[in-house]
This record gives sequence, structure tokens and C-alpha cells, in this order.
Amino acid sequence: MQKTDHVSDFARITPTARIDRPSHGWRAKCLQRLVRLDLPVPETVALPAPTVRSIAAGHPIDSKAILAHFGESSLISVRPSPENPDWGGPATVLNIGLNADQHAALVRRHGQAAADAIYLRFIQSYSTHVARLDPDMFATTQPSASAIKDALRVYEAEMDEEFPFDPARQLAEVLRSMARAWEGTSARLLRQAKGAPAEAPLGLVVQAMAQGIGQGISGSGVIQFVDPVTGQPQITGRYLGQGQGRDALMAEQALYLTHDPRGPSLQDIAPEIFADLLRYGVACRARLREEMQIEFTIEDGRLAVLDAVKVQRSARAGLRIAVDLAKDGVISHEEAVLRVEPRALTEMLHPQVDARAPRDVVARGIAASPGAAVGRIVFSSAAAQASAARGEPCILVRRETAPEDIRGMHSAAAVLTERGGMTSHAAVIARGLGLPCVVGADIRLDPKEKRIHAQGRSFGEGDLITVDGTTGQVLAGAADMLPPALDEHFQTLLGWADQFRDIGVRANADTPSDAAMARTFKAQGIGLCRTEHMFFEEDRLIVMREMIFADTSQDRAAALTRLLPMQRADFVQLFEIMAGLPVCIRLFDPPLHEFLPHSREGLRELAEALDKPLSDVTRRAEALAEFNPMLGMRGVRLGVVLPEIYAMQAQAIFEATVEVARRGAAVVPEIMIPLVSARREVELVKTHIDAVAAAVRVKEGTDFDYKLGVMVETPRAALRAGEIAQHAAFLSFGTNDLTQMTYGLSRDDAGRFMNTYVQQGVFPEDPFHILDVDGVGELLLIGAERGRKTREDLTLSICGEHGGNPESIAFCRKAGFDYVSCSPYRVPLARLAAAHLALQDPILH
Ligand code: PEP
Ligand code: MG
Repeated sequence: MQKTDHVSDFARITPTARIDRPSHGWRAKCLQRLVRLDLPVPETVALPAPTVRSIAAGHPIDSKAILAHFGESSLISVRPSPENPDWGGPATVLNIGLNADQHAALVRRHGQAAADAIYLRFIQSYSTHVARLDPDMFATTQPSASAIKDALRVYEAEMDEEFPFDPARQLAEVLRSMARAWEGTSARLLRQAKGAPAEAPLGLVVQAMAQGIGQGISGSGVIQFVDPVTGQPQITGRYLGQGQGRDALMAEQALYLTHDPRGPSLQDIAPEIFADLLRYGVACRARLREEMQIEFTIEDGRLAVLDAVKVQRSARAGLRIAVDLAKDGVISHEEAVLRVEPRALTEMLHPQVDARAPRDVVARGIAASPGAAVGRIVFSSAAAQASAARGEPCILVRRETAPEDIRGMHSAAAVLTERGGMTSHAAVIARGLGLPCVVGADIRLDPKEKRIHAQGRSFGEGDLITVDGTTGQVLAGAADMLPPALDEHFQTLLGWADQFRDIGVRANADTPSDAAMARTFKAQGIGLCRTEHMFFEEDRLIVMREMIFADTSQDRAAALTRLLPMQRADFVQLFEIMAGLPVCIRLFDPPLHEFLPHSREGLRELAEALDKPLSDVTRRAEALAEFNPMLGMRGVRLGVVLPEIYAMQAQAIFEATVEVARRGAAVVPEIMIPLVSARREVELVKTHIDAVAAAVRVKEGTDFDYKLGVMVETPRAALRAGEIAQHAAFLSFGTNDLTQMTYGLSRDDAGRFMNTYVQQGVFPEDPFHILDVDGVGELLLIGAERGRKTREDLTLSICGEHGGNPESIAFCRKAGFDYVSCSPYRVPLARLAAAHLALQDPILH
């Protein structure tokens, strides 16, 4: 360590040096580990974050002191070293120190061509990365003395000064430009999207160049030991003779490391070096406890390891790598679980395009982020957000994306760009979000006309397309989709997660296929079955309408008698699929007029079907209309006013219970009353249901148990939970309605102004997406506390859409809830998020 008036605080990376990750960054720490493993790492020093910060603030840098450390004639490189590799950083600059003298020395050592190539490249890279000149001004030319002169001339013309030949000045400028770039707005936004704090620090790593050019075997490459998309063990990488840095990844003529069908591979030309690389790979995996990509250089047959970075990976690969490391005993099961970000599971859960179905391929590009999605074309982030607010899946199509598109990407079902590659902004962000993404597609986007042209066809805003991020194809229309494949590694990891978590996870499932999906995802039962969904099917709808239009209670009873066996069959199916797991059935909830036709035409057809005059039907339909249907005759209010509906449903539930029990599977159904606001409502419904249970017991000559509970969806129910719990075995918080009523916001119409509200910071987030812990959350806490005071063993849960959000799960777990219930596809995410919470905060219970 040295100190002068100038900023020159740096640490040499040795096995025992004090290099700490928060200050020197992950790369410096990682290089120290490689040094400790005795890997041949060139001399390296690390600049800590405070030093980099003062450089950015304009303090002078004693770059001579750094250069002196390497010896005056060495060339050096500078790489960024933030605390977390995912936070990116400014581009690496190689060959700092090159000037006419150094160039002449290189010519003597390596020949004119190699020396020219390195020199030209340095001038270009300095001009674009440090002086920020337009890369287009340095059109790719063959390296030569005149190309070098041209490049120097461009620099001088643009900068009004000579190219800096003094190595100390070069280094000082490189350090300053990297330090400043890190503080820039777009860099900040990019890393914040990756979870970095706003003030995340940057360290820098300065390393002696290993040249990669020379008379003997010389070149550079990267090697990794897993496939970045699947995570399967497999050696991949490239090697480029007479190359530097990561050149090999870009050059077509780069060799494969092993088994190159086009000719000899690195393994063939340098078997010993290849064997060393394999050894290093094994050592890194075991000691760094991670799958690393090793960047290496060979200079005249001498291998140097310049860097090792975590292998870039898809979510699927990340999961497999974590599971394999744990299976090999390199990391614990707990750590494997913690290494997989719950939201990353979404990518694995994404539907894929059915390979058997016809594909109307209109464009091809780079498969940048797996999974497929169907949506309507939008061309701007604002349009994507508006579409999401309307609940319509959309595909965000851009020439390329920029950091300001992040909100739009969050709102889109998939992203398609005309430009870009595997590591372009769109690709990186989409992979992080688990969004299907195709970049660099052979489309032509006309932003003015708002159209894309592809293979002689043209598509406009609102047109339906399918983006297949797994194959890189863009399909016209909505392709047939397949549910995602959940492989053995996925199941293994979630199995481990289940061992650690301490809050239950159920699924919201209304239909047999939902229930089957819930089982596939190992939900611990159904937390919400919305029974009204069963009445919308064609054969039931007409009976339902007959029931609604019945003139007498006998007529109503007759319609309900016809609905009874249908409902019974529904419940038998659900109970059988769930095989003894709890099933919570919510009694009928919506206002009755939702079942009526809205057009005159529909009303006429209904009049025909019911054999009633049109005027009667119209009058009755008008009488049922409400100004505020969501606050009207729905939920338990219907149950109180028309008790026959709940009675029929209860009978169907109990008869199904008996039937399934007779076949061997014991069922304890849970019956839930919606939209309660007063204890008396529960008393009335409970009396009816108990009577139905007694009747079914007598009729069937058998006993059964059931639980009756209340859905807390009105603020009053939360406030009066103490008395409501006298009659309820469980309370389930329906946070959709509860949010609606707490804010006085319509679930159906809030989209109109929600964007403005969020943009202007009125609400931090859309409260229908992210639970409002301050307001709605307080009602949850009050309800939970008052309910449990009355009944210690009261089961508490959440079943609104928030149930699958990691943040809501954390809130509910802290509040002592027994389980969360969410849509089947979110169950894996919820299981993993719950395990994270239990592992990070184990002593809560
Ligand atoms: C709720 O209101 O949170 C709920 C789960 O019920 P629904 O969405 O069916 O109104
Ligand atoms: Mg509700």
C-alpha cells in the first residue's frame, strides 16, 4: 500500500494481501483466490472503491506509482471489479502503455503484423472507450503502418491534441474514464435493474498483459465446463491463435477447445496446456464453489490465467449448476436453494411453442432468452405499460432497447429487437427478467409507420405474433403452446426448498386442469376454488339463467336440482385429483347479472330459450343491474338473500365428500364464505350449511367432517375478525377485493390512471400487483391478531393475487400465517421464496 497526496492507493494481489470484496470488488477477490490456487496469474494490483470514487470526483491520480509497480516497459490492462459481477461495469482496456517505442519493441519481438495489430487496436480502443470518440470513425481496416497513422490522425483531428504517448497519462485517463463511466446514469440504471444499490461502489483491477502473440504456440481463449443454456457438463469455449483478451469469442476462425470438426482443436495442438486448463477448471469449481469461465492466454507456450468469471447462464442452467454442485458436495443443499433466485423460475415455467404444431415463421434472430410468448405488437415502452394495465399480453418490438425501456420490458410478455446480440441490452435484461426474447432478428422496423417488415410481409401495432426465445423464431399469429418441461433438477431443488420452508403453499384452482397443474407443482392443497367459474360452462349457463329467472321458489329449486349433480361431479373430480390434500371451496361470489347476456340479441335468444316474453326477460335483467356491482348483491349477500344457492353448493360438496370417501380417500372439505362484513352473515350461512350437513349425514348414513371459514375481503371483516372468528375455523384474506375496498379503487378501472399514479410516485407500485403493506397490510395484521385472540388455532392465509409474490410471502410469514395460495404457475416460485425466507431468517418461529 502506498499513500501520497495523489490518489494512488492500491494493493498487490498476493495470497495473503487484504483484498476485500465490498471494496476491491468480486474480480479482485476472485483473482486472489486463483493466486491462492497457484494458478499462473500475471502480476495484478487492485484499486479499492474509495480510490476509484476520488478518481471519479476529479482528484489527481498517481498513475506513475502504479506503472512503477509493473516496470516501466510493461503493458497493462484495466478491468472493472464491482462487488457483484452481475452489476456490469465499464469495458476492459488492454495494452495500456503502448506508444511508438513500445510498438518498435513489439515489432522486434513479434514481427510487424502482430505489433501493428495490437497498436492499432489500442489506439481505437483508447479513442472510443476513453476519449469517447464515435467507433464509426475508426472503420475496421487491416492493421498497417498507414492504418495506424490514420487512426492517430482521426484522434488528433477530433481531440485537437496529440494522441497521448506517455504511459502514465494513458493509465490516468483510462482510470478516470472508467471511474466516471460507472457513475453515469445509464450504468446506474442498468445495475439497479440487477438489484445493485444506487451507490454501489466500483473497484478496478490493473494487470500486466500476457501477450498472446509470439513465435511458439501463442493466443488467447476462454474455457468453461458447462453449457450456458442447459447447465449440462460440457467443455465449451474458443481459442484464437495470436489473439488477445476475449477475441476468440468473436472470431469465426477461432478453434474449438476439443473435437473441432473443422480441423485440429486446442486439445490437439497443445494437449498439455489443455490438460492444465482442465485441472484448473476442477480446482476452480471445488474451491470457488462455482462454475467458472476461465480466460487464458498462451505466450510462446506459457499458459497464463488472466481472469475467471462466473459462467453466464440462463435461469435453467443456474438451477442445474446449483443442484449439481450440491449433489457433488461442493455446496450444501441450503446454499443451492439460496443460489436460485425465486423469480428466475419463471423462465423455466414459461410455455414453449409446441414443436408438433405448424409454425408460420416470419423472421429469425438470436435466441436470447428462452421460453415463448404470444402477444400483440407494441413499439414503445409506454404502449407496453398501457397494454399490461389493460391485462393484454404484448410483445415489445424495438430496434434495440436502452435502459429507459426497462419498465416497458417488465410489462411485456416478450421482447423482439432488430439489432443486438447475445449480450446486448435487450438480451441481458430479458434473461434477467425471465422474458422470452429474440434479438438481431431479420426484420426491418419502421418506427414512423409503426410497422415491421419481414420476408415480404408486414405487421403493425396490435397484430398478434409469437416470439420463441428458445429457437430465435418469430411466428405470425398465436402459435400452439406447450406447458413447460420441469426436469429432474427443478424437482430436486424444490424438494430441498420444501424441507426448509415454514409456511405452506397452496394453489388457486377452479378446474380439473388447474388442480392437476397444482399437483404437478406440488401445491399443498387448493387454497381457493372459485366455484362460479364452474357455472360459466355452456351446459350450466342456461340452467343458471333459468334459476335466475325463476318466478317461484319451486322453479328455482328445480333449476338448482339440475345444477346439483353437475356441481357434485365437479367436486368429486377435484377431491380425487387432490388425493386427500385440503381443498378450500369458496361459495358462489359474483353478482347474478354477470350470467346474463348483455346484447339485445342475446336477450332475445334467452327469451326464446326460457320461453318467456322478451319484455319480461329485459325487465328482469334491468332489475338485476346495479350501479356498483362489485359493492352490490354479491358474495355472502346473495347467500343471505337467496340461501338456496349456497344450500345446493353445500349439498354437492358434502355428497362428493361421501362419494370420494367411500372410494377410499378421506376428504375434509373447507367451505369459505366470500365478501363477509358482519358476524351475523356468517351465523346465518353457518346455520344453513350445518343443516345441509346434518341432512346429508342422515341420507347417506355416514359421518364426515368439514371446516367453515371466512374470506376477509372487506375492511370491516378485518376489523371485526375477533367476533367473526367465533364462527370460523379459518380466515383467508382476499387481498384483491380488500385492496379495492381499502383504497376505494375499482379493480376493473384503476388501470386508467394507475400508470400516472405510479409514475408520479403517488403509489410506489400498483397495489393490485404488490401488496400495500402499509395500509392493506395493516388490515391483515389487525385481522390476524384479532382473529387469533378469539381462536388460537385459527388458520390464516392469503389467497388474493399477491399470494405468489415473494414480498407478500415475507409479510404473511412474519404475521404468522399458515399458508399462501396463488395461481398454480406461481407455486414453485412461492415454494422457493418461502424457503429463502426461512433460511435467511430461521428463528422466526
Ligand atoms: C380476492 O378478492 O382477493 C379474491 C381472491 O377473490 P376474487 O379475486 O375472486 O374476487
Ligand atoms: Mg374477492
